Amino acid sequence: MDPSPVIHKTAADLRVAPNFSDYEAERRRFSWDAVSRALGVQPDGGLNIAWQALDRHVASGAGDKVAFRFLALDEVPQRDVTYAELTRLANRFCNVLRELGVGRGDRVFILTGRIPELYATLFGSLKNGSVVSPLFSAFGPEPIATRLNLGAGAVLVTTDTLFTRKVAAWRDRMPDLKHVLLVGEGGGPTCIPDTLDFGAMMQRAPDACEITPTTGEDMALLHFTSGTTGTPKGAVHVHGAAATHWATGRYALDLHPDDLYWCTADPGWVTGTSYGAVAPLLHGITSIVDPSEFDAERWYGILHSQGVSVWYTAPTAIRMLMKAGAEAAKARSYPHLRFIASVGEPLNPEAVWWGKNTLGLPIHDNWWQTETGGIMIANTPAFDIKPGSMGRPLPGVEASVVQRKEDGTLELAETPDAEGELALRRGWPSMFRAYLNDETRYRKCFAGDWYLTGDLARRDADGYYWFIGRLDDVIKSAGHLIGPFEVESALMEHPAVAEAGVIGKPDPVAGEVVKAFVSLNKGFEPGEALRLELLGHARSRLGAAVAPKEIAFQAELPRTRSGKIMRRLLKARELGLPEGDTSTLETGSGS
Ligand code: ATP
Ligand code: MG
Repeated sequence: MDPSPVIHKTAADLRVAPNFSDYEAERRRFSWDAVSRALGVQPDGGLNIAWQALDRHVASGAGDKVAFRFLALDEVPQRDVTYAELTRLANRFCNVLRELGVGRGDRVFILTGRIPELYATLFGSLKNGSVVSPLFSAFGPEPIATRLNLGAGAVLVTTDTLFTRKVAAWRDRMPDLKHVLLVGEGGGPTCIPDTLDFGAMMQRAPDACEITPTTGEDMALLHFTSGTTGTPKGAVHVHGAAATHWATGRYALDLHPDDLYWCTADPGWVTGTSYGAVAPLLHGITSIVDPSEFDAERWYGILHSQGVSVWYTAPTAIRMLMKAGAEAAKARSYPHLRFIASVGEPLNPEAVWWGKNTLGLPIHDNWWQTETGGIMIANTPAFDIKPGSMGRPLPGVEASVVQRKEDGTLELAETPDAEGELALRRGWPSMFRAYLNDETRYRKCFAGDWYLTGDLARRDADGYYWFIGRLDDVIKSAGHLIGPFEVESALMEHPAVAEAGVIGKPDPVAGEVVKAFVSLNKGFEPGEALRLELLGHARSRLGAAVAPKEIAFQAELPRTRSGKIMRRLLKARELGLPEGDTSTLETGSGS
């Protein structure tokens, strides 16, 4: 690893002037009111994400700009959809909903690949004042039915193939579901009994619609958490959240009008909606949508040939690219690429440096949750990176490290490097407004003015936040509190280790001992000699108290569809306990 603990920003790292350069001054100057003003006033006096993302640009004459470039896949060719066209499609879908009698507050679920119809449904539903919930198309029948029932889904937009494979047999177990609209995967009409043809209805629908008068507090989106620590929760978000998406697109992703932006997340994960659709559209920029799954060669090809300038991805994808080897990356050039960001899991320092050494740009880690709706803590172009840190709270966001006291009050850490629960002060617009049907759980997340995130962190003297682990994952061993990330990062410094997942294993003497599961990079084979070498490496890096006592090799670690290592599953399997909710488990992983 590079010896310097800090990556100083150089002119080469900043190929364009960043949207802000003075962190402290920008925090002082910032106000959410100013963001609302920047987003403009809807002529009818309402506040609707779809108007801010689409109509606003068309009204200002930017309708011909490409909103999304859908890349080719198999026999489906590449397709550019402009702001004007997406507005028209959204209007038509809004009219389709009205024809069906679907109204304000009604729930629309989406189960499709990353195709234009997904985005038309998303924004058309918002225009109608309906609440929209995109699901991963890779979900099996049961997770789909569970979420639809929890969310009282009245409408489902899916494809004929997905419907036949995953929904048809379960439909009578979804009592709220009134209408199923099918997109024909062959491009033609669909004719499955008790379903409607999406294409035919869209063709009949008028091009124009009046947006249902919504306010910033109207419910807009329903997102399910990733299910890393247990059964996924439904987080409710409102139209006013767009202010956060705009501000964070500006500060954390540094979006500029001429950017070609690629967010690799699927809209089934909150990242793919907030930052794969809403934030780039609010900024009026062009986004790439790749309907395909991860493939290192393809991804490098996209970065190169599409001329991507801002790229938002996830640690798991970066580690898979690292695993595929540097040669694949270096076979192409990326002259347009100027900013890389990542979210979803702790980003180990090795990965930050890998970006710098292989792609010429460090990777900017940022932190947020389904519940926060948008990026809260980030490394930005405006300040140096401390690899391994999540960065600093963005303008408009107040964070702290707190201890919950017995009487329910909080103690805010004042001293640098104190460890505690990461908390955010209420007041940012995209804060979730409820856990669907679980008011008790929602209330438990708050203490006075503070939202408690369930993650443990440390804030250093410069105000940078360092992720320790989730409260659920922290290991207590012989009087030490051990965050899995620290151990995993140390293991990933070894050239053999591609990924690591660390758990606490009950132990009669120590309480818990640290056990690590590792997957290996290309060119390394599991074996006793390597196991001992890794144990030795970890001990010299971490000390005997924190280093793993046991290491096991696994070809793949179990992860969620959003790419997070499921430590609770590693633990359940290790201890022979029930696996719990595995609805978000990426199939094929973890065996
Ligand atoms: P569930 O709540 O169902 O267990 P989840 O918490 O993984 O799932 P998400 O809302 O998708 O669902 O993920 C948010 C969590 O992901 C954060 O609370 C944090 O634990 C982790 N996370 C996100 N970004 C980062 C990051 N940059 N560094 C470390 N952890 C991160
Ligand atoms: Mg969570």
